[in-house]
Amino acid sequence: MTEIIKLDVGSPNKELIESAARIIKAGGLVAFPTETVYGLGADATDADASKKIYAAKGRPSDNPLIIHIAEPEDAEKYAYTNELYYKLAKAFMPGPLTVILPKKDTIPSSVTGGLDSVAVRCPSHPIARALIRASDTAIAAPSANLSGSPSPTCAEHVIADLSGKVDMIIDGGSCEIGLESTIVKISDNSAILLRPGMITCDALRCVLERLEISHAVTEMLAEGERPQSPGMKYRHYAPRAQLILLDGDSESVIEYMRSAQKNESCAIICYDEDSSLLDEKDLIKIGGRDDLETQASTLFSALRQCDSLSVEKVYAHLPSKEGIGLALYNRMIRAAAHTIKKV
Ligand code: AMP
Ligand code: MG
Repeated sequence: MTEIIKLDVGSPNKELIESAARIIKAGGLVAFPTETVYGLGADATDADASKKIYAAKGRPSDNPLIIHIAEPEDAEKYAYTNELYYKLAKAFMPGPLTVILPKKDTIPSSVTGGLDSVAVRCPSHPIARALIRASDTAIAAPSANLSGSPSPTCAEHVIADLSGKVDMIIDGGSCEIGLESTIVKISDNSAILLRPGMITCDALRCVLERLEISHAVTEMLAEGERPQSPGMKYRHYAPRAQLILLDGDSESVIEYMRSAQKNESCAIICYDEDSSLLDEKDLIKIGGRDDLETQASTLFSALRQCDSLSVEKVYAHLPSKEGIGLALYNRMIRAAAHTIKKV
């Protein structure tokens, strides 16, 4: 049985937070909202509890979990921090940034997929922070979706994927950002971006002298290549229909979409201003062309919506790789299994 509770983001009810924290302390699973996407949480120091996360999601056991802390300094209990960590923390925490550091023994290796590093994040969402504080531990939490499906950005998505598989789902409304956190792996003097997010490369470069970008952020892994982040090798975010990203100037893309609507069984994910040029049947608007923040917060819902339509293909614009665009590009090429069509 999954208990579903509603909490007010502004002032989450203390007793309900306590009841969720009791589940975490007892080794159970609680799905909760964060500013990025919903997380599926368990006590990060309890190996058995975190194994339940993998089972509920159907997640491969070598794909490590991010641990969530209430204050940046709490990382000391679980990881070997350095100066760079505190520079990043000062600039971006609490917020949508995950930092990978060498792990301490307080975190079982089942949480880190056997790696000797651990991913640490301090979310800014009031419900997430209240839950972590009340649980008095770090909370391991991957996105609260079934492995492979789009990350959940509202409680309805979590209920659709995990109802009956977890102890509690906290409904705290829609996630503001809607894309998962930016992930950087750091050492004393180097930093590499493993997953782009709302905190952009330009923002990171204001703090970091050097930032490398993993080629897997935008490219397919080579055959047999060992990824820097295990999650990079898995199919992700994909709707059931085949997603195809159209690469070309705006007019050519719209022209292609119009003709596909006439001749194929397809849905279209389009920018708001283009919707009047297209047939409204199976048309999903994702936000204004230049409004990347709205596109980010709508993308996963749009991909889920595709599954409710009986179409064989979905066409969408290929995003640019600039700024927040890089995060959209990264999620969409994965959802499309790197299928890009030049038009
Ligand atoms: P999710 O929690 O679903 O957003 O996925 C977390 C992502 O973080 C996955 O892609 C993991 O592979 C990645 N990750 C977590 N811990 C580590 C780590 N220690 N080293 C590299 N990548 C990690
Ligand atoms: Mg995920």
